[in-house]
Amino acid sequence: MHRNEGNVGLSATDLSSFFECEHRTTLDLAVLDRRLTRPGTSDLERRILEHRGRKHEARVLQFYKDQGFKVEDLSAANTEQPEDDARERLIEPAADPTRRTLAAMEQGVDVIYQGHLRHGNWVGRPDFLVRTEVQSPQTSRFGDHMYEPVDAKLAREEKARAVLQLCTYVDELGAIQGVLPARMWLALGTTEIEPVALNTADYSAYFNRAKSGLEAFVADPPRIAPYPEPVEYCDVCQWWQRCEARRRADDHLSLVAGITRRQRSKLEPAGVTQLVQLATLHKSTEVRGIEDGPLTRIREQARIQHEGRSSGKPCYELLRDFDPGAGLELLPEPKPGDLFLDLEGDAFALDGGLEYLSACSNSASLRSTGRPATSQERLATRHTGRPTARRKRLRSKLSLTGSRRAVRSSPTCTSFTLATVKTTR
Ligand code: SF4
Repeated sequence: MHRNEGNVGLSATDLSSFFECEHRTTLDLAVLDRRLTRPGTSDLERRILEHRGRKHEARVLQFYKDQGFKVEDLSAANTEQPEDDARERLIEPAADPTRRTLAAMEQGVDVIYQGHLRHGNWVGRPDFLVRTEVQSPQTSRFGDHMYEPVDAKLAREEKARAVLQLCTYVDELGAIQGVLPARMWLALGTTEIEPVALNTADYSAYFNRAKSGLEAFVADPPRIAPYPEPVEYCDVCQWWQRCEARRRADDHLSLVAGITRRQRSKLEPAGVTQLVQLATLHKSTEVRGIEDGPLTRIREQARIQHEGRSSGKPCYELLRDFDPGAGLELLPEPKPGDLFLDLEGDAFALDGGLEYLSACSNSASLRSTGRPATSQERLATRHTGRPTARRKRLRSKLSLTGSRRAVRSSPTCTSFTLATVKTTR
């Protein structure tokens, strides 16, 4: 977000942030009006993510260079911009990067890295602009060629946030070059760089709606700012400490473990807006829209959290009314040779993600025999997703811990994946 001749200038990042969380847009507006200071980017996890994002972008850049494309690198032209994920947000973009991007497009450079687009109140900084030929009867301001945007995203699959950003670049490109790109591309964080094409037309209606929604929001912000409801994006949002503190100060219902947003939306009209209110709700109280079973579960969860807070020590209760045949009930009767594994993983480590052994123990010793995987073993435990490979990986991991004999004596070894309540034989 930036000031553009008295108006609020917007970017692809602003649009995707608005899509994720309207509260964030109100905070960004407050920063723009100097009513708030943006928090720093010091937390470690966020910096690691940024670092990985930059490394992935460098891989995609190398991918284009390896194919012999002529690349115009404009990243140095943008050094005056903030370095966080809201790269275009604070400062009115300098004219130079915009002019240099336009000049590179006119020259017909194959790939433009970190170009700068600007149209009306909107700015955008696609990771890559890739040249393609104009299909008749379309015409481009640049003659026989035009550009399509490519964004490097570390994710393994397309996310709505990334698609909305690309749509913004497409919109700006359409205005700049006089022809709308029919495709936009995502270079995902897969082992091999293989940009995935998306059809612009499939997303344009939704994009137009989101864009006009954001423009209307910033032109006339709501008198009462939207509540900082927890969303997936909070995990990487700069504002998380502020929002977390607000929820705690409010004793917000979202603090109840396992409660859903839908359940909260049913409780609030019934006057239950705080954890303590849910914890002390009378057992006979009914709440419209929530069945008795789920209501009992979240009420009891709130109660035990409330008791823990009041007593100053963690409280727990054993569940007696669990679902038969689910969760830990899936485990067979204990027998000699049983092994207990705790596996840790990192989907973005190395090239293709990593699963590695954290700890293993057997029922006799209950002693951990775990150790970090070596690089050789890492290769052996790379995730492939196929059941047969999964079994092999499991056996491979078992053998790493000196428990090979136990597995040999249990040829019907079964792995139970309790997180997803699935079994693999
Ligand atoms: S931390 Fe979450 S709720 Fe707060 S602004 Fe960010 S995305 Fe919104």
